[in-house]
Amino acid sequence: MRTLDQLNAAAKTVLVRVDFNVPLTAGKVADDTRIRASLPTIKELLSNGAKVVLMSHLGRPKGVDPSFSLAPVAPVLSGLLGEDVTFVEGLPSSDSTLARVKAAHYGGVLLLENVRFEKGEKKNDPQLSSRYARLADAFVLDAFGSAHREHASVVGVAKLLPSYAGRLMEKEVKALGRLLHSPKQPFWVVLGGAKVSDKIGVIRSLLPRVSGIAVGGAMAFTFIKAIGGQVGDSLAEDDKLELASSLLEEARSLQKKLLLPSDVVAAQKISGDAKTEVFPAFAVPNGWMGLDIGPETRATFADALSGARTVFWNGPMGVFETPPFDSGTLAIAEAIASLEAYSVVGGGDSVAAVNRLGFADKFSHVSTGGGASLEFLENGTLPGIEVLGGLTPEEV
Ligand code: ADP
Ligand code: MG
Repeated sequence: MRTLDQLNAAAKTVLVRVDFNVPLTAGKVADDTRIRASLPTIKELLSNGAKVVLMSHLGRPKGVDPSFSLAPVAPVLSGLLGEDVTFVEGLPSSDSTLARVKAAHYGGVLLLENVRFEKGEKKNDPQLSSRYARLADAFVLDAFGSAHREHASVVGVAKLLPSYAGRLMEKEVKALGRLLHSPKQPFWVVLGGAKVSDKIGVIRSLLPRVSGIAVGGAMAFTFIKAIGGQVGDSLAEDDKLELASSLLEEARSLQKKLLLPSDVVAAQKISGDAKTEVFPAFAVPNGWMGLDIGPETRATFADALSGARTVFWNGPMGVFETPPFDSGTLAIAEAIASLEAYSVVGGGDSVAAVNRLGFADKFSHVSTGGGASLEFLENGTLPGIEVLGGLTPEEV
């Protein structure tokens, strides 16, 4: 994969695809994590004398929609960089945008409008890609969180300009690559979250590489139901029972441990003041929903993890958005934080949970890519990596 090491950026206009898909509350940036993550690449290009033109998507607008404008990001980025950032209104592919880019000086930063305002963006329209390409001399992909998408601003334009991975992209690929290529053993994976169906590819890819997988969250109920447990009104995927059985069979034949919860914290509604009770995970009464892993499970999972040298965690152990159902997730965060292991957490909600519980700095790597991290662990590469030359075994 080509990186910034190969780009001589002096007196060049460099188009950088970043991931500024930030949450907005009342028109203000509510969390600047993704903006901060892009700073090393932007600073490096500026100090090398480039004109930096940033583009990103934000949300899922249907056509041009001012409530999805990237304008609120410009002042936040400017504050973090300590440099002026010029926001360019209008479609990124428009002639007026091209004129603004041409007129700007080297050593400056411009931020273009939301690429998803463009009809051809998600279709990877070649004409749109070439209108992006005419803006710059070189292209840098630093939006790891979008690198699994074959969109015009990710792969389309990368094919038309000399293109390179930014520092964030490089860091993510290295950190996640360590999980795939000779991870230190024991290697434990903790999986949770809503659905087994979202995580099949990752389970299949990681099973042969791990010592074991501990499964919590709602997805555990699909496994429990598949082996005859009674899950009451817990969230389970009834059309995925056979799949769950076949994953259990796969784990057995590879002689890998696949741990399921033995007890759960249940309630009759998802609410902070609901009455809670602990049931065996295989015997949740009707009318009750398992909303978190129970105390015995927390101890079992922590014990399994205790000797681990490598840990990957994706998916909260319960409905962490509604305390007290965040306790199991907190217990797992504490267990991982206490290890002397290479630890990685990935997934949109998992990272939000780790941030909210104050554990982000206890992990070796907190991935900025939700779907992209999982797809990379599944396939060992991404469309956005391939378009930059792909990986050799030494690079990961
Ligand atoms: P990530 O974004 O980290 O990949 P997911 O999107 O797969 O994670 O899952 C996160 C969601 O799973 C959260 O909204 C959480 O409330 C939900 N969840 C976890 N455990 C349960 C449960 N027992 N019952 C219902 N929802 C759950
Ligand atoms: Mg999620």
